Amino acid sequence: MVEQKQRSEAVRVVVRCRPLNSKERFEDRTTSLKIDQAGCQISLPGGSQTDTALSKVFTFDSVFGPDCGQEDLFRSTAEPIVEAVLQGFNGTIFTYGQTGAGKTFTMEGDSIAGPDRGIVPRCFEQIFDSIKHSENQEFLVRVSFLELYNEELRDLLARNVKGKLQLREKSSGDVYIKGLHTFVVNSIDDISRVLQVGKKSRTVGKTLMNEDSSRSHSIFTLTVEGMTPKNDKDAGHIHVGTLNLVDLAGSERQSKSGTTGDRFKEATNINLSLSALGNVISALSDGRDGHVPYRESKLTRLLQSSLGGNTKTVMIATVGPADYNMEETLSTLRYASRAK
Ligand code: ADP
Ligand code: MG
Repeated sequence: MVEQKQRSEAVRVVVRCRPLNSKERFEDRTTSLKIDQAGCQISLPGGSQTDTALSKVFTFDSVFGPDCGQEDLFRSTAEPIVEAVLQGFNGTIFTYGQTGAGKTFTMEGDSIAGPDRGIVPRCFEQIFDSIKHSENQEFLVRVSFLELYNEELRDLLARNVKGKLQLREKSSGDVYIKGLHTFVVNSIDDISRVLQVGKKSRTVGKTLMNEDSSRSHSIFTLTVEGMTPKNDKDAGHIHVGTLNLVDLAGSERQSKSGTTGDRFKEATNINLSLSALGNVISALSDGRDGHVPYRESKLTRLLQSSLGGNTKTVMIATVGPADYNMEETLSTLRYASRAK
């Protein structure tokens, strides 16, 4: 059925494996992860290193190895989504994985400029570039930046970072966040300012409230409004596309012993929201008309209008190559594979 195909193509799941870092190289860490970029497969050894029959093989929409640079990754994951957002569709890009696997490197990159800049700055470049070249259309670009920590929402662009935001529902069923700041941005320079303010807020949260940023989801939202100008036959026609760039909390399992009080609550909330997200994406990529459990968590409720339906979603699962991470890597690949 055509409709089913469209639906399943609306969710793409890809895996990115980072290179061994200098500490891992210094420690002579081994890696037995096998990446077949052309075949879109990644495999882990089974019970015994030599027994290939026991190895676990996972297939995804794409697999990117340690040599894949930021530009190539952007081209094959985010670029088509940004294109759709410019035309008035919604889209969401997630990075998922254990802490240290490369989620933030993939999403934001190591710097705002420079070759290692990530998806966020590149999305803006594409948007402003496209605006510059569109002669017959006016655009308005707005951004917001928030953090979901322990099921509490915080505006990273607000003066008072300690203030908590409430999720509200309109009678239409649409979800919105009361009081969330949105800013109009006109250039790449504006973006770097926004990113810096957001980063600062996170640092403040970290020290003031004793938080660990690997335990929070950060959601950068871009809204692009396009208006057809007066001299066009569709004059005054407005289309709005929303793009969510979501850097998820670390997926690593918390050790059961010694996890009590606040930390335990945190871990439970993270597990809950990540599994709810997995359930939603898996229901969407099934392409059946069945129930999509958006209401299971704040994260999925918040992103409801940008997941499913006429939207495009990419989940980028990030993994480390070293064997000492194998258990977490396996768990990330299982999660990603289920979402597919
Ligand atoms: P996470 O956000 O998942 O906790 P980070 O993105 O902070 O992980 O990555 C941890 C470290 O590894 C950072 O110093 C980052 O620069 C580096 N790193 C991650 N992915 C890559 C990559 N693909 N290539 C080079 N360095 C990377
Ligand atoms: Mg990170």
